Amino acid sequence: MADSNDGNCRSIVWEYFSRQKTNGNRNIGICKIGTCKLPVQCPTGATTGLYAHLRAAHPKAHKKCVARNEENCKRKLAEQELKNKNKKQSKVDDLFNKKVHWSSSHPNAIAITNSVGHMLALDMLPYDFVEGRGFKELMKLMEPQYLVPSRTTFSRSVVPELYCSVKQKTANEIYRDFEDILSYSFTTDLWTLRAQDPFIYFCLSYVSPEFELKTFALENKSFPGEHTGESILESLDKTIDNWELPRTVPIYVLRDNGSNIKKRHESLTIIL
Ligand SMILES: [Zn+2]
Repeated sequence: MADSNDGNCRSIVWEYFSRQKTNGNRNIGICKIGTCKLPVQCPTGATTGLYAHLRAAHPKAHKKCVARNEENCKRKLAEQELKNKNKKQSKVDDLFNKKVHWSSSHPNAIAITNSVGHMLALDMLPYDFVEGRGFKELMKLMEPQYLVPSRTTFSRSVVPELYCSVKQKTANEIYRDFEDILSYSFTTDLWTLRAQDPFIYFCLSYVSPEFELKTFALENKSFPGEHTGESILESLDKTIDNWELPRTVPIYVLRDNGSNIKKRHESLTIIL
């Protein structure tokens, strides 16, 4: 067993000696056991000489000192290991708890953003809904790494892109069905928001080659100005153009009994 097993541990051997300096500023330890008082050289603080003296002159004290020193070192080592373990664990915890937000191009962030855009469209919510305190708190709880984009991101890109994607998908289905179409029809109505903003919608219906009734709400658009039969017809014309629907087959229009629509009944019923 090595006597100078103090390593990084402060050696207990110094409990048996008192530190002193010689006139030449050299470290010495004066033995405190009994009346010994022997000065022991310990250059640069090394304890080898101290242990050697204990072993030679005070074997019992030497044995006790070595045992206590070992125990002390083991305890300090265990403490250090625990400290390192805790440090490692807190690093892992930090990684999980750290408020590192996903970038907007992160696949999870893209999926959530698209889903929020879908919600805005489905529930007809205003864009500033995404900047509401309650919604932000909910998102933070559900997914702390997700940063909700601004309302302009939703109004300028997310929802318009969602619209384009749904429109393309719908158009593809219609064109596929329309290869041998014999006729198709529109349902239309006019409505006004409480803020007096007028709207018109056109809903396309047809029977598919598989004899299945299909209905698509193609457009729901702002409809300012006078609501005459002519202006409704003009608006429907634009919808047909916008969706590139064929004009070579009969197009029927189903309407309510609004006087303006009724008035144009004859010309709106079949447009060739
Ligand atoms: Zn001594």
